[in-house]
Amino acid sequence: MRLSAHRPRASIGVFSLLLLLFFCQSALAAGAAKNVIVLIADGTGAEQYTLARWFKGAPLAQDAILTGMVRTHISDSVVADSAPSGSAYATGTRTSDKFISVGPRAKVLSSEPSPPEELRYRPLATVLEGARVQGRSTGIVATAGVWHATPAAFYAHVPSRTLESTIMKQGVHQGIDVVLGGGRGYLTPKHAGGLREDGQDLAAVLRERGYELPTTAKELGAAKGPKIFGLFAGGHMAPDLDRAALAPQEPALAEMTAKAIAVLSKNPKGFFLMVEGSQVDWADHANDPAHLISDLLAFDRAVQTALDYAKKRKDTLVLVVSDHNTGGMSIGNMRTNKSYTQTSVEDLLEPLRKMRASAAALWARLGKDQTPERLQAVVREDWGLSITAEEAKLVLEAAAAYPEEPYYALGQILCPRYTVLGWTTHGHTGGDVPMFAYGPGGPKGLIAGFEFGQATAKALGIDLAALNRRLFVDAALAFPPGSVRLDETDKNAPVLRIEHQGRRAELPVNTNLLRMDGRELHLEGLVIHAPDTGRTYVPAQAVQRILGKRVP
Ligand SMILES: [Zn+2]
Repeated sequence: MRLSAHRPRASIGVFSLLLLLFFCQSALAAGAAKNVIVLIADGTGAEQYTLARWFKGAPLAQDAILTGMVRTHISDSVVADSAPSGSAYATGTRTSDKFISVGPRAKVLSSEPSPPEELRYRPLATVLEGARVQGRSTGIVATAGVWHATPAAFYAHVPSRTLESTIMKQGVHQGIDVVLGGGRGYLTPKHAGGLREDGQDLAAVLRERGYELPTTAKELGAAKGPKIFGLFAGGHMAPDLDRAALAPQEPALAEMTAKAIAVLSKNPKGFFLMVEGSQVDWADHANDPAHLISDLLAFDRAVQTALDYAKKRKDTLVLVVSDHNTGGMSIGNMRTNKSYTQTSVEDLLEPLRKMRASAAALWARLGKDQTPERLQAVVREDWGLSITAEEAKLVLEAAAAYPEEPYYALGQILCPRYTVLGWTTHGHTGGDVPMFAYGPGGPKGLIAGFEFGQATAKALGIDLAALNRRLFVDAALAFPPGSVRLDETDKNAPVLRIEHQGRRAELPVNTNLLRMDGRELHLEGLVIHAPDTGRTYVPAQAVQRILGKRVP
């Protein structure tokens, strides 16, 4: 059963009083917007938008709604990564590298104040959780595995983005209405062909909870809702450029966005949806212009889909942003040092129009036969470039420096020779990123990433401080000493055990379950353990229930 939000009767005990205070404060004000759609182009700066616009030959969907810029630095680095940057957008708090919606560690940039001790490593409530507590429907759409850093920041709480298995488990227990993207492997245990080490079958949990689980675009089209967990690839989805050739059964980003809006918008209380164009970042890492343009234009179509919905009404806020820039791409490179003012549209676009595959797909086709002759032939077929044997050799030599991603060498060596595009890095860069907003309550001007998160919360009428108190109570502080114990007998599935006044409660970590009095209840939030502090957090609702408060 699902417990609903409720107020305790005024009664004895300091816990009850505190809880009463929490619940009164968490009375959630009406926000400016009924619905909020946040679309994030991962790893995209202004220059990438310019390139995509030239390629499209028309304005981008969000061109007309530019409202400002976002400073992306994180608490411990001038250059951001998706985990802390996405967390800032999701929680309204700046945090540390690798962290997924938990508070920052003590060590911060010299420009930043040291975070208060009680904030460190603490789970931070997200706008998605706030929207759900308010009774809105919620959704996540991505072209990466949905456990990837940016989408994860909106629903999970872990001290490292690499804890994919845990992130997926939290996602399944989070009660999100529509989840669409890649990453099916983490639903299924290893012995059944999946990636989970803990032997848990999360697909079975989802089916029990009434979800449809489409795995193809066709099945997605037929899915009725209201609960859909559609994962269309074992790992990440295919680059948009390669989809027709490699994964024609996968839906496009705009298709997933349209379906999510169609299902979520049936809720009269409104909805919150996060959509990520995940792979623009990977294309930038690879210095791969064709993959970059195709995925950014796929994102553009998703933005158009969201704006088409919002423009028919007055109650929907559409926000478009990036978490950071990647690759340091520029229109103009060392080859144009002296000729930049004679750059024609053809100079810019012609070499790019011939590229028919992502660098990764091109490299995969090369296979084991890594001779200069073979590379020349494949580059001619897939990228339309007649490179010399000398250049092919240079690419193969450069590829040896990237054993995990040898295809990084293609753009690195060939872009400066055959395009007018420059790249400065295979990593991220630290500049401000453009921000776009349409609808009631959108932010303006130059703001920080965490202020973007705060603006989103405000538009939804979420009091983040109250929400944090409601969803994440430190269990050890809510009960007398000695009554709370983390049982890690099963390392893969720790359980918080609470014994209080003869009651025994079990709260499996990373789930929303409370087992007590022979019953299993679904809580309104997750049970989260912070290994760095040893603290375990539970929804105030669980505390109240264990204290013996009646739930209507
Ligand atoms: Zn990246």
